Amino acid sequence: MIITSVDIYRLEIPFHHPLRVPIGVIEGANNVVIKINTDSDLVGSGESSPFAPITGDTQESNYAMAQQLARLIMGKDPLAIEARMTEINRFTVGEPSIRGAFDIAFYDLAAKAAGMPLYQFLGGSVREIRTDLTIGMQDTVEQTVNLAKGILAKGFDAIKMKVGRSGLADVEHVKAVRELAGPDINIKIDSNQGWDYPTAVANINAMKPFNLDYSEQPLAVWDFDNLARLRDKVDLPICADESIFDDKDALKLIKLGAADYLNIKLGKSGGIHTALKITAIAEAAGCKCMIGCFGESRLALTAAAHLAMARPNITFLDLDSAYDFKADPVIGGVRYDEKIGGLLHLSDGAGLDAVIDESYLQNHKRIEG
Ligand SMILES: [Mg+2]
Repeated sequence: MIITSVDIYRLEIPFHHPLRVPIGVIEGANNVVIKINTDSDLVGSGESSPFAPITGDTQESNYAMAQQLARLIMGKDPLAIEARMTEINRFTVGEPSIRGAFDIAFYDLAAKAAGMPLYQFLGGSVREIRTDLTIGMQDTVEQTVNLAKGILAKGFDAIKMKVGRSGLADVEHVKAVRELAGPDINIKIDSNQGWDYPTAVANINAMKPFNLDYSEQPLAVWDFDNLARLRDKVDLPICADESIFDDKDALKLIKLGAADYLNIKLGKSGGIHTALKITAIAEAAGCKCMIGCFGESRLALTAAAHLAMARPNITFLDLDSAYDFKADPVIGGVRYDEKIGGLLHLSDGAGLDAVIDESYLQNHKRIEG
């Protein structure tokens, strides 16, 4: 199989409720979608969802880089994923979001060529996968509680709370949600680097009665040493997110004893190829993985859900970005169960079995061989 052309588009969909975190606000999808066309009748689709405060890239830069990556791979075999991703990862150390979009499209094509859904192509079998739903940082406890009520009413069994306020201001928000939810709902907190070491120790100790699952990225992205110190100090698992992009970060964090869990996002790892390496390193170290998202539509979320289904070591799912979109442009792909909150369904169609409705795609550019 040979790559004959690549179509590049912008995709923009606002959220009903922008998601506020300590390092910025995600307003919705400001993404780039690519389609890799081949000399067969198969087409592979991929999507980036850049968030500059974390990934360092933007929709603008992804759109420009996609054109260079398209030229790089033109006329080559998309099924040789090892070779294609090695070229792409050597071409730029930056732009992880768009590298991930190309990787997703390669896997979509490879699984289609094999005639299998992607989870099966990755060696997986059907298992139950269920996402949490996230509450962003609200101004008042009342606002936080109102959002939590909505999540519980939809039947979710897991809530992720964005924290990272100054001092101990987060404690009352978490306390109120635990009191509302009762003991059986899973609650995790994500500080998005909002705390320093002493604030993290104080908050995690103060939240001990609330029986949390883990603390995600409590400290600054670069502060591996204090993360290891914190993990020794507190009685709550530590999950690294912004501190881990790829397999090299995974190995470093594990060697330092700095994380119990690793949060994989295809927009950080540059796709499934490197994500699989992260899961292997984590598994060998007795470390569980989480899979998360930025502002992906159900297209890129479908790739993440297939990966999660294929790798049971991916224990925690936070694949909720498309839950709050004002429009859903994706045909096929992963579905949120209508009754059981957070339960995810994948089809048995080949590849991702998902495409974007063309009418939502803008600024089409075709790179040809
Ligand atoms: Mg996070």
